[in-house]
Amino acid sequence: MLPAFFGSALELIIKTSTDLAPDVRAAMKVALSDEPAGTQSAQALTIIAQNIDQAAEGEGAICQDTGTPTFEIKVPVGANQMWMAQQIKDAIAEATRRGKLRPNSVDSVTGKNSGNNLGPGSPVIHFEQWDRNEIEVKLLLKGGGCENTNIQYSVPCEVSSLGRADRDLEGVRKCILHAVWLAQGKGCSPGAVGVCIGGDRASGYAHAKQQLFRTLDDVNPDPALAELEATIMRTVNVLGVGTMGFGGRTTLIGCKVGTLNRLPASFFVSVAYDCWAFRRLGVVLDAKDGSIRRWLYRDPSHPSIPMLDQAGFTRTGREVVLTSPISEAQIRSLKVGDVVLLNGMMYTGRDSVHSYLMKNPPPVDLQGGILYHCGPVVLKEGDAWRMMAAGPTTSIREEPYQGEVIRRYGIRAVIGKGGMGAKTLAALQEAGAVYLSAIGGAAQFYAKCVEKVSDVSLLEFGVPEAMWHLRVNDFPCIVTMDAHGNSLHKDVETASAKSLATLA
Ligand code: SF4
Repeated sequence: MLPAFFGSALELIIKTSTDLAPDVRAAMKVALSDEPAGTQSAQALTIIAQNIDQAAEGEGAICQDTGTPTFEIKVPVGANQMWMAQQIKDAIAEATRRGKLRPNSVDSVTGKNSGNNLGPGSPVIHFEQWDRNEIEVKLLLKGGGCENTNIQYSVPCEVSSLGRADRDLEGVRKCILHAVWLAQGKGCSPGAVGVCIGGDRASGYAHAKQQLFRTLDDVNPDPALAELEATIMRTVNVLGVGTMGFGGRTTLIGCKVGTLNRLPASFFVSVAYDCWAFRRLGVVLDAKDGSIRRWLYRDPSHPSIPMLDQAGFTRTGREVVLTSPISEAQIRSLKVGDVVLLNGMMYTGRDSVHSYLMKNPPPVDLQGGILYHCGPVVLKEGDAWRMMAAGPTTSIREEPYQGEVIRRYGIRAVIGKGGMGAKTLAALQEAGAVYLSAIGGAAQFYAKCVEKVSDVSLLEFGVPEAMWHLRVNDFPCIVTMDAHGNSLHKDVETASAKSLATLA
């Protein structure tokens, strides 16, 4: 059929997972330069920039959550779409085998991970015909943390801090601002939003996601929507949510709005939030052999300019160095804002592990230990495991369990991203533990802090959900919830709600 199609699809997948597009790099560079040095957001942005460079250099996944692969494909009349879909599935399986994608496709009833990113609904492939004699393939990789912050409003409705949102563009403006505020750092801010006004519940979300295929610097051809997008971008950063919700100057790097007709009775505003690891690229293929004619969003004749022109994360001497097992006294001496460097053993655990620990004793002794909310990409090489990508996952999903798990097993530090709630904060205070924020999406940066993957437990849950035993060296995190009842996340949420009210 098209002998080069498989190779082109594989190249697109790998490039999308490992090399951020120039428009996103440019927006993140502006965010980095705008943030005053020494702030928590500035530290986080430095690690993010370093991670973007490391991912491109080493062809490693920018973030360990390589998300739902969503393909938008345009083909000439008569093209064999079934054959192309199979080639794309084969390329997805190959990219997963090479550790460029994390196995992310889970049976929703049994919880079994297919191991190759294939299964009902994975990947998502949409075909459309056009009258050109070439094939366009666009790919978006959007992870779970930001997908979980998507939201749909049925207006008119009341939105907190902003009052009533009516069925007009002013009401839409309020919904968008509220969605960005609500996401806080859980979707790895600063992010970008795709928005759909109208449609039904399903088409609204799909169209919102399609807006993310626009470049961050384009201008909406509809003047009213262009004005809405510009208004959001002019005002949204007053929220002060900042990078990873640490507080800071840049909360959003893009807002793209589209419309669909609606039923007279319905008026949905659908918001698709994407994180700073905004991975989308595209290729135009020769319709005769499937080879790449040109790239979209990037120009290979202009190599990416590195994000950092200086050293990345460096010690200031004020960091607190901790080696596990950690004592209660060490933990109680920490306060919100401290930067810690972790050494020794830590254990990963996310949804399946927390559920397991509520019913079973842990497979390892967790007294004084560190639990890392992380679903890594790990490859087996002979008898050993190699860490490929190891950033944090969104912690709030473990809120129903975390306090109990800390108390039962004597855990002293929980690492994740986005912060946790009141139940966990109370448990930290009572048991003498801290919540540490790692920088979401910094998968290559943190993988380099892993000296050794010494073992794994509960691998039957699949690679992302297993409990990995990691020996780490100078693994940096920020204390964002301490053992004295303080939470940076609570403070930023409260302050940003007040700022949101000024935009009513
Ligand atoms: S950067 Fe954050 S939100 Fe985005 S895919 Fe990675 S973990 Fe998820």
